[in-house]
Amino acid sequence: MREEIISGSSTDTGQKKITGNVLQKVGNMLSFYDKSTLKPVFNLTGTILHTNLGRALLPESAIEAVIKAAGNPVNLEFDLEQGERGERDSHIETLIRDLTGAEAATAVNNNAAAVLLVFNTLALGREVPVSRGELVEIGGSFRIPEVMERSGCKLVEIGATNRTHLKDYEKSINDNTALLLKVHTSNYSIEGFTSEVSEIDIAGLARKNKIPFVIDMGSGCLVNLSQYGLPAEQTVAQVIAAGADIVTFSGDKLLGGPQCGIIAGRKDLVDKIRCNPLKRALRPDKITLAALAEVLRLYRNPDTLETELPTIRFFTRPQETIREQCERLVTQISSFLPDRYAVSVEDCTSQIGSGAIPVEGIPSTAIVISSMTREDEDIRRLADAMRWLSRPVIGRIHNGSLLLDMRCLENETEFSGQLKELKALLS
Ligand SMILES: *Cc1c(COP(=O)(O)O)cnc(C)c1O
Repeated sequence: MREEIISGSSTDTGQKKITGNVLQKVGNMLSFYDKSTLKPVFNLTGTILHTNLGRALLPESAIEAVIKAAGNPVNLEFDLEQGERGERDSHIETLIRDLTGAEAATAVNNNAAAVLLVFNTLALGREVPVSRGELVEIGGSFRIPEVMERSGCKLVEIGATNRTHLKDYEKSINDNTALLLKVHTSNYSIEGFTSEVSEIDIAGLARKNKIPFVIDMGSGCLVNLSQYGLPAEQTVAQVIAAGADIVTFSGDKLLGGPQCGIIAGRKDLVDKIRCNPLKRALRPDKITLAALAEVLRLYRNPDTLETELPTIRFFTRPQETIREQCERLVTQISSFLPDRYAVSVEDCTSQIGSGAIPVEGIPSTAIVISSMTREDEDIRRLADAMRWLSRPVIGRIHNGSLLLDMRCLENETEFSGQLKELKALLS
């Protein structure tokens, strides 16, 4: 402001006027910093598990557990029966064992931490052969080769991008081989002339050589998804039954829980992993464990998942219901938009997201807003206005139009109640 006054570009003159302007600006800035920057938004991107929007939403029972754990002392590491020190994992271990058939389980901050901790515990300074078809990069800078390097083990590439055979694993094994690894190719698929080795075969080879078989499952599905009309993914229980000694997976992908990573498998190996000093740096807090335990408890009663667990509820929401919702909202939206916009209801495809089942989409329906004059600038301004609503609306731009995929819109009243703000934002 001082520069503006000195250069004469400011039209405001006079001590009083300038002081007023300064106070006004400072006031605006202070009230801005007083508000939380982390806000609830409407996820109308069509990506159900959107990493940038915080992935899975917790079910009611987990939200209640989180509130209780946050505001009270809890027996996090205290055995109420014996009155002595207890185990943090005790709140989730039995549940995971029951749901996966694993002998033991522990939880850490996320699946990246799980993978790091497993390598660092079981393969420090030793070799791990990995198929060239599984050298995965997950968004947000998680790369299997880089995590392996930081964990202190040596990656040995085997096979080819499209084909890896059992003999490639066999040839790679020597006295310095720590374990055999399989990584779920979460966010891509290799098609055409391909071949990968089954879990059962790798497990057999690992057992013969007396080394553990570890699988990074990524999403880690606990139930058969085909019952919900989704492509079948292998479940954690299936790969453990096939002979995996350790399995790692995320808590906030298909599982639908809080951000965390789960390590499940053989008890002697999980015990070793728990004793790694890095575990302390990677362990989850009471709030995460409270939420995870409630989400896992829902899985004991799979019939309730479709109604109680938001992630499964969103997957299974019928397209007809979504289309009816679009029809209800389309005239309202268009009544708050300037005439230069055209609004219609069109079918689209939702994605599961977070690298879960990357190839298949789920049929859905969207409200599509285009510019009558096909101006990109109009669509950019509209997307800005949507993000500046009281509760920001995040859609996606597709073929020069703004798409609002309604699959994940549950609070319709709040959504439509704030549409009137668009008028001022776009005038
Ligand atoms: C997502 C994913 C990870 C990382 O999991 P986060 O929970 O996001 O840390 C690791 N490996 C695979 C195969 C994944 O899909």
